[in-house]
Amino acid sequence: MKIYSFLSSGIDSNVYVVEEGNNALLIDMTAGQSTIISQVIDRFRGYLRGIVLTHTHPDHSGGLRIYREKGLDIPVYVHKIEAPGVREGRIDNLFNMLNEPVPPVKNVHGVEEGDIISIESLVFRVIHTPGHTPGSICLYQEDDHVLFTGDTVFPGGSFGRTDLPGGDPHQLVKSLERLVSLDVDEFYPGHMSPVKGNGWQWIKQSLKIARMLIV
Ligand SMILES: [Zn+2]
Ligand SMILES: [Zn+2]
Repeated sequence: MKIYSFLSSGIDSNVYVVEEGNNALLIDMTAGQSTIISQVIDRFRGYLRGIVLTHTHPDHSGGLRIYREKGLDIPVYVHKIEAPGVREGRIDNLFNMLNEPVPPVKNVHGVEEGDIISIESLVFRVIHTPGHTPGSICLYQEDDHVLFTGDTVFPGGSFGRTDLPGGDPHQLVKSLERLVSLDVDEFYPGHMSPVKGNGWQWIKQSLKIARMLIV
């Protein structure tokens, strides 16, 4: 499994592409204001089999506009709580991050806790981690101890904010407790740089700080 990291600048989320053989999965889509997402789609287009949104804040989902513009129809996986907003083109333009609204996307698959997203040999388990948003998910690749964390946990002991609509500090702490129970070596957050070793220790640190600050 090869992981390509396209780290964000400005308001965009990071974008990750996980590739094995002729299959690739894209994780998060930026706000769609920069050219990153368009370039990533062009580069991997021939073998891009699916897109996962860790949650639907516009800095992660706005790039779906480009998906539509480029005529893609690959499945978009998102937690079932947040799936209707994507299907119906109701992505909240939080902080006016989007220049243009995101049109409805047809091929949306609502996922939930414990679901497996698998594309040939790429296999990820969906971990539902509410708190930053109600439908935030992390994606866990058990064999390599790799976790994609969206805006639930960041490096350096930080974690996702809970003061936006749908945020819940108590749920965030519970979600961090859940992540600490996983064997995580590397983790790939929605913003900031990936952590390439002892990921669980950093998640533990985030949990410790979250408990002090928000519960
Ligand atoms: Zn974000
Ligand atoms: Zn967010």
